[in-house]
Amino acid sequence: MLWDYEQPVTIRFGCGRVTEIADVAESHGWENGLIVSSEHFVRDGTTDRLIEASNGRLTAAFSDFSPNPDVAEVDDCAAVIRARGHGFVVAMGGGSAMDLAKAAASIALTDDSIADYHGTGKAMPVDHLPLIAVPTTAGTGSEVTCVAVLTNRKLGRKAPIVSSGFFPSVAIVDPELTVSVPPKVTASCGMDVLSQAIEGYWSKGHQPICDACAVHAAGLVFDYLPRAVADGSDLQAREKMCEASLIAGLAFTLPKTTSSHACSFPLTNIHGIPHGEACGLTLDWFVRVNKNAQSGRVQHFARTLGFADADAMADAIHDLKTRIGMRTGLADLHLNDGQIADLVRISRHPNLYNNPVDVTDGMLEDMYRHLAAIA
Ligand code: NAD
Repeated sequence: MLWDYEQPVTIRFGCGRVTEIADVAESHGWENGLIVSSEHFVRDGTTDRLIEASNGRLTAAFSDFSPNPDVAEVDDCAAVIRARGHGFVVAMGGGSAMDLAKAAASIALTDDSIADYHGTGKAMPVDHLPLIAVPTTAGTGSEVTCVAVLTNRKLGRKAPIVSSGFFPSVAIVDPELTVSVPPKVTASCGMDVLSQAIEGYWSKGHQPICDACAVHAAGLVFDYLPRAVADGSDLQAREKMCEASLIAGLAFTLPKTTSSHACSFPLTNIHGIPHGEACGLTLDWFVRVNKNAQSGRVQHFARTLGFADADAMADAIHDLKTRIGMRTGLADLHLNDGQIADLVRISRHPNLYNNPVDVTDGMLEDMYRHLAAIA
């Protein structure tokens, strides 16, 4: 077995550590920083407070973007970086803020549009501005990944771009920032963590270091996600979910995600289902599809987490979704045959080919019909 491992991100983890942004910038000699932040932190004053406390290292904020950021919003952010000559970027928010900032920090050093690279196969430029990632959801692990997931709404395309230039220089993970995440977003983000861990483990590109991360992260989700959803102020549960999110990021960034992520893209794009909830929707189905793949590795994963076997883990995922208010089906959407056919067609995303079992159109159709409660 041949495998490579790379993890170039410096990690600072712990409550209260968001105040170390200025310290990180000073120690690297980075100046004139732009903080890209979710609207929530502009409204509650956190962004202004961080700028004021930065000893002049942060000079402006950008928050003009939407969840599942669009390529046009990346270009707008890059234009601000170019116009103001920013020397580094802080990305504070969920995956949407971090992914937009990663792409803008790369593209700002060119005159290009990110659309030239999104879904086109064109390699991203290697040069990029230094980036400090500060996650405020426990979900994507984007703070340690070389992935930016962007949407081109004009073309109806949501897809990841992978570039070694997208690894942040530093990740500051401060669990206190996640206390304000509403229960529904907490639940959806947590399902993203579980999907990344499990898919990273069974991906055709799996490897031992990432396997160990996947087991650790998935175990934390089963133990702590219900608590974080039930009581957002439960700081221990928040901290453990931040740990799970970061470590799941390490688990999947090199092996890549697989079937559930492939299916999540049309579920989000066409039907507006939040990313993590969309991934979780098909996760237990694919546990059953993959349960005997890779000479029993998936069974071993389930038993290591304390389940009797992979079927029992699939049952537990279904129960978890029910407990935390995530959808377990699509019946409420009243999908017709054409809409099922669209889901099948658009699920044929490159990530699907990382799945350990070949997934046919017939298998996808059976799954979507079952989820939609159509005979
Ligand atoms: P998000 O960033 O879209 O945030 C969801 C909502 O929560 C937004 O309205 C945001 O403003 C709000 N929010 C964020 N932090 C908050 C806080 N602390 N308190 C209150 N509200 C807060 O959601 P997400 O799940 O973190 O990210 C999803 C995006 O990340 C999707 O586009 C997904 O495809 C992508 N993603 C990226 C990677 C990667 O490696 N780059 C991995 C998985 C998913």
